[in-house]
Amino acid sequence: MELKFWGVRGSIPAPGPATVRYGGNTACVSLRPSSKGLIVLDCGTGARNLGITLMEGAFGKGAGEASILLSHAHWDHIQGFPFFVPLYQPGNKFHIFGGAKSSSMLEGILEGQMAPQYFPVQTLKNMGASIDIVAIAEGEPFEVERCQVRARTNPHGRAGAMAFRIEDAGRVVVYASDAGYGAAGPPAASLELYRGADVLIHDSTYTPEDGRRYADRGYSSVEDAVGAAVAAGVKRLVLFHYDQDYNDTEVDALCARGRRLLDERGGRDIELVGAVEGSTLTV
Ligand SMILES: [Zn+2]
Repeated sequence: MELKFWGVRGSIPAPGPATVRYGGNTACVSLRPSSKGLIVLDCGTGARNLGITLMEGAFGKGAGEASILLSHAHWDHIQGFPFFVPLYQPGNKFHIFGGAKSSSMLEGILEGQMAPQYFPVQTLKNMGASIDIVAIAEGEPFEVERCQVRARTNPHGRAGAMAFRIEDAGRVVVYASDAGYGAAGPPAASLELYRGADVLIHDSTYTPEDGRRYADRGYSSVEDAVGAAVAAGVKRLVLFHYDQDYNDTEVDALCARGRRLLDERGGRDIELVGAVEGSTLTV
């Protein structure tokens, strides 16, 4: 599997000279499984650059097909959706999966941000590509692009955020953005989802100090991410979804802190990667 990071920032885009190295776009990751299909994890503003790149290939000719997994519908996870150009190309096919009580509710959420009060161009129904939307049932395996996928809802705000476990030919990637475990730590079902993953992409919004200060916001600190990675026995931990107010030097320090914490807490064998916009990772 090949992962590419198109947006690694949390909450709101943070472009500018202080964030050029890690990048300012919000959550979006692409995953190419061995089937050569395409899975898109979240559609934050990073999805715009992914879309532009995809248009150079089959998606530009209306012959592209991809699946989009949405962890939840906070702005930083769906704001790139109306600006994802392959959706406007007739012939392209998209399958969207996300957590909601029903598929029509999920459709209504995506449609909502494209209402004429917020967006000038088009509605979800006449974007051009064929789009089907499916609400995911908690814990039940389903197939996406010939990969086995399972989802669990992590505590985050009022509605929670889904984490996804994607298995492809014996390799496992887990995407767990936006998780606020609180003092109790990760729920057993979440740890079971992360168990033994080759790569765990985990919310690492804050330093441990800021994590305690903003405990009510529903995010993880780097300490929480390390705790989850060690408890689940993963092989690689990717820090993700940095606070919008951290500059590159502060994210460097966050990653160094993560390495130290892993070494101190029984995770010496776990490789640590700080997600960088535009970078790739082979699993
Ligand atoms: Zn977020």
